[in-house]
Amino acid sequence: MKMIIGGIKTDASDGKTIDVINPANGKFLDTIPMATKEDVKRAIANAKKGQREWQTIPLMEREKIIQRFVQLLEEHKREIIALCTRECGKHVGTTIFEYNQTASVFTGYIEAAKRLDGKLLVPGSEPGHDGRTASDMILVTHEPLGTVAAIVPFNAPMLLYSYKVAPALAAGNAVIVKPPTDNPLTDIKITELLLEAGVPGNTLQIVTGSGSKVGDWLVSDPDVDAVSMTGSTQVGIGIAETMAKRLAPCTLELGGNDAFIVMPDADIDKAAASACGARKGNSGQICISSKRFLVHNSVKEEFTTKLLALVRDIEVNYDDHVEEMMEKCLSNTDRTNTKGEFIGSLISEKAAKEVEAQVKHTVEQGATLAYGGTRNGAFFTPTVLTGVTKEMDVARDMEIFGPVWPIIGFDTVEEAIEIANASAYGLSGCVMTADWKLGMRVAREVQTGGMVVNGSSVYRDQMQPFGGQKMSGVGNEGLTTLEEMTKIKNIVLKGFLG
Ligand code: NAP
Repeated sequence: MKMIIGGIKTDASDGKTIDVINPANGKFLDTIPMATKEDVKRAIANAKKGQREWQTIPLMEREKIIQRFVQLLEEHKREIIALCTRECGKHVGTTIFEYNQTASVFTGYIEAAKRLDGKLLVPGSEPGHDGRTASDMILVTHEPLGTVAAIVPFNAPMLLYSYKVAPALAAGNAVIVKPPTDNPLTDIKITELLLEAGVPGNTLQIVTGSGSKVGDWLVSDPDVDAVSMTGSTQVGIGIAETMAKRLAPCTLELGGNDAFIVMPDADIDKAAASACGARKGNSGQICISSKRFLVHNSVKEEFTTKLLALVRDIEVNYDDHVEEMMEKCLSNTDRTNTKGEFIGSLISEKAAKEVEAQVKHTVEQGATLAYGGTRNGAFFTPTVLTGVTKEMDVARDMEIFGPVWPIIGFDTVEEAIEIANASAYGLSGCVMTADWKLGMRVAREVQTGGMVVNGSSVYRDQMQPFGGQKMSGVGNEGLTTLEEMTKIKNIVLKGFLG
């Protein structure tokens, strides 16, 4: 596939390409251009015009464009699901789950844009005012940020594209997308459909190539007014540093090491099932996957036995008969469409090797490999680690992006909260308990952007202002936070009120 600059499907100006392969079976899928700095510059120059053009289109018309896009998305449903499944090496049911939310994120943000009202301040309401401003009309308005660079990670390329592009467009911005290099094809396809639906070619563009070059050229350019990035904390910090030099805003949704806390009064069957589901989804490659399992010592053995039984049952596989599997899953009434199905590969062999090294490191630090721990190409066997102590790296700041369950014992609620808060990350977390008051206490004391009581941390409602605390990010995404894609302007009509 090609990148899209100024509405035109484009090769890199020096003709260089990158191969995209299916990580599960190594099959070649396509190539993408390796954009040059000149290509990126051209997209940035176009975006300035594209933003002005987009802003002049009334919201009602923009809504019609998004409605057409939703229609096209439905028409291309099977093609998109198959493409995404193949380039991610995942189970088709996981892709369907992602696909099912994409349209509503776009329509939801257009609805939210209709309520981006601004304010008319009450005249003379300034505390202790001397009447100076009493006859002035003060309007608080929202303006688009300008050109937004949307930098998308590999783990949910369709949904996380939507959470960036949909609000940026709804608020009147131009967008330049930088998709993940391992699996950029779905993002290119969705961009094509948005353009076909009527988004102007200079308003939405997509440039492909490595983050360290193409991503950095975008972030460093003074004509990029804002960055919305989801990915690792390490890359996020670099982006924040660059943006700080020109005091430009960035929304960063970054890494996490979410604690799953099991109190002694919890329903252990439910806790084990929830823990299993929370970590196996997308082969553990979810930012809000529960990643550290903090279990009260009095129920640790029971929990571990029950979890092990469930984890042993997980089938790791990949079936290239994607279309056949898709029909089966589409006719499944299970809400997630994944019931009883296997988990696929990780995004690359490199990623699986990283997980392998992290598991080995934890065992070297003293943990016991209770199950799993093996790798086959990009596949990693579901792995349970017991005897993990709060001092080990995995209990603190080492995020494992794969199907691994490290179990850490604790004796008191205070200790559980202390372990949970010892991580530099603060994305999400959860607590299982029969006592809602205790659940509420833990939810309030764990320092994260979200907490779930009696369910896993894998929870994201589109209305939530989703985001992380501490090293897990800056800013929020969700249908209730559209203002973050705007800047505020106060307009004063001096003496207007007489
Ligand atoms: P990543 O390596 O940080 O990459 C994310 C995106 O940033 C990719 O498009 C990447 O391009 C690009 N990039 C890399 N270096 C860059 C640079 N110097 N300047 C600008 N862009 C650059 O993260 P990932 O491995 O794709 O994703 C996994 C991480 O994302 C995990 O830590 C996970 O927890 C986190 N995550 C967080 C959330 C959340 O909402 N908080 C959601 C999902 C994932 P390339 O692909 O070309 O390298």
